[in-house]
Amino acid sequence: MAKRELLKVEGLKQYFPIKGGMLGRTVNHVKAVDDISFEVYEGETVSIVGESGCGKSTTGRAILRLEEPTEGKVTFNNVELTSISKRDMRRQRKDLQIIFQDPYASINPRQTVSDILNEAMTIQNSVPPKKRRQRIIELLETVGLNEYQADRYPHEFSGGQRQRIGIARALAVDPKLIICDEAVSALDVSIQAQVLNLLEELQDEFNLTYLFISHDLGVVRHISDRVIVMYLGKIVEIGDTNSIFENPKHPYTNALLSAIPVPDPLHVNTHIGLKGDVPSPIDPPMGCRFHTRCPFAQAKCSVDEPLLAVHDGMTDGHKAACHFVKEIEQGEIKPKDYSTEIMIG
Ligand code: SF4
Repeated sequence: MAKRELLKVEGLKQYFPIKGGMLGRTVNHVKAVDDISFEVYEGETVSIVGESGCGKSTTGRAILRLEEPTEGKVTFNNVELTSISKRDMRRQRKDLQIIFQDPYASINPRQTVSDILNEAMTIQNSVPPKKRRQRIIELLETVGLNEYQADRYPHEFSGGQRQRIGIARALAVDPKLIICDEAVSALDVSIQAQVLNLLEELQDEFNLTYLFISHDLGVVRHISDRVIVMYLGKIVEIGDTNSIFENPKHPYTNALLSAIPVPDPLHVNTHIGLKGDVPSPIDPPMGCRFHTRCPFAQAKCSVDEPLLAVHDGMTDGHKAACHFVKEIEQGEIKPKDYSTEIMIG
């Protein structure tokens, strides 16, 4: 059966103005997201990964119009979100929810769990008032909490339980797509696994679609159907999870993957060292944005911007934005800066 496209992002840009001078004029822009396009199909989990500042969280916020996108088109469930009024957008948010890294920051600490869930249902008018208490109890049970916890306050819960409250609040309006913005990043590993399992169970039960934003590649590998790798506001590689983790084509993806520690004392981890910090998104490098740190960079890389494209050996839907995929793979271009680390213990 053909997959149904639920979300389509086309040429999305999110620039933030930098004001300066006596008159507070716009003197430059932070190009947080710079012309990205991708689709998300119903029922799948697509992850966006990259270092801090790559634009992954900004992408999530721009899709929801929590920040008004500078340019580009976002279509969700056949509705062009970027062209509707703010009022219509609020209605669309019933189907498009977000879970943040720190649920405590996005909930009112003076409200009980019951109040928090009730408020979500009231705003979207998703459940008739008389049925709300019963729905709250169902929601708590769905996310692994108990009825007696409905009248407690957020500070009475652990981090993992608070994230379950955040998930219950998202579910309270029966969404189609949930954007999980570093949703498990602040949790201990064992609690992380429990929340990830819960998200997977809920996906099966309610046919949910996830856009999962994370810097943690271990988590991303576990939960994703497809992965988008971002660097400095651009998509540098996209593909199904197996292609990205087993057959990465972009030097940046390779560098990210090689930085994952392997818990095996005999494993020789060939770590591709990345030079320097991520450049400023105010004045990103010309050509390939990764050229200032790429160990394979050639003269062409600082002039011509590589497009996201299919290269030899890539299976359906796998694309990378690099001029020299083939040459790097065949060893015709050697890395300039290559370090080998031996992981012990
Ligand atoms: Fe590296 Fe050049 Fe490929 Fe960019 S285009 S990733 S700088 S080799």
